[in-house]
Amino acid sequence: MAEREIKLKFGEGVISGIIALTLSILSFLGVLAFYFPEYLTTPDLRKNYSVEFIRQLMFYALILAGGLATFNIVRGFGANNRSGTKIKYLGMVSWIFISITILLGANNIEVKSFEDKQLYIGLDWFILDLLGSSLIFIIIEKLWPHRNQRVFRLGWKTDFNHFLLNHLLIGFMLLVTNHVVYDMFGWVSMLGTDVFIQTLPFWGQLLLIILLADLVQYWAHRGYHEIPFLWRFHAIHHSAKKMDWMAGSRQHLLEIIATRCLVLIPVFLLGFSKSVIDAYIIVVGLQAVFNHANVKFKFGWLQYIIVTPQFHHWHHSSDKAAIDKNYAAHFSFLDYIFGTAVKGQEEWPKEYGVVGDYVPDGLIKQQIFPFLKQLK
Ligand SMILES: [Zn+2]
Ligand SMILES: [Zn+2]
Repeated sequence: MAEREIKLKFGEGVISGIIALTLSILSFLGVLAFYFPEYLTTPDLRKNYSVEFIRQLMFYALILAGGLATFNIVRGFGANNRSGTKIKYLGMVSWIFISITILLGANNIEVKSFEDKQLYIGLDWFILDLLGSSLIFIIIEKLWPHRNQRVFRLGWKTDFNHFLLNHLLIGFMLLVTNHVVYDMFGWVSMLGTDVFIQTLPFWGQLLLIILLADLVQYWAHRGYHEIPFLWRFHAIHHSAKKMDWMAGSRQHLLEIIATRCLVLIPVFLLGFSKSVIDAYIIVVGLQAVFNHANVKFKFGWLQYIIVTPQFHHWHHSSDKAAIDKNYAAHFSFLDYIFGTAVKGQEEWPKEYGVVGDYVPDGLIKQQIFPFLKQLK
């Protein structure tokens, strides 16, 4: 069945219902993480937030969800027709999640002491990143949209499922990455580059780390486009026909793991200081999401130096002039140096997606796709 876009209009009670439902489900998931932190939270992320902060967050999320769900039910009764019944349904399901969350102890659950597990599900990473990113990016995409596009636009479910899976599997991906980076390529750290790198100031190290990572990423990305076997995996990322902050999540799991390993070998092993690596990880995370966002920002001459949404949107275009172009993730000048920049990209591309449109929709189908199809 073809996926339908969901229309949202202010004043109908649907937006309040969706926010209430999202917050109540996330609060319920938060309760599960409180009960089973050793299996459902991310050790590296946990160091960066306090339990008290999460308690406060859940408290306010439940109050907001309760208020909006009630408004939504009242609004649904007011409408008193078929769409009113659907609207009420959102509020009622939200109240079921809110009630279960409160019955289970909500923000007051005591966290027992526990030991870190080697393998875990990144439920806290999913909840916090979804809350933070949707809050920031939905607002900027509504204030400065490049295209007038719905939040629940074509393909959103597939992108959301990729987002969910990529976050929940963070533990598994870190385990594999650490194994490859440290166990297989640990010898890189014997090169003595740390002596030089440590003499550089913070900003110098940060620029160098991003440049190195992007050089590796550029050639890996180019390989994904130019080697037919690898393209089968990367075609998943290009199958998005609508661009927004969530579209960047659409990636084959093996591609994420392989690219991350390749990029992190120089990043972790050449001797950069920890604060620089942490800053780099934040830059990658934000820039990757921002470059896919549906925003109309113009950066003038800066577009020739750093990768902007407009630059990366060209990479996703199915327009003839844009095929196998604009590979960089951070520094667009790499594409100008290596001769792969789209010419005349002052405008925006017309269409996005894979030429021929042969990639199936849906998370599972996309994960199996590279192993089934013979392309080119
Ligand atoms: Zn690509
Ligand atoms: Zn992309």
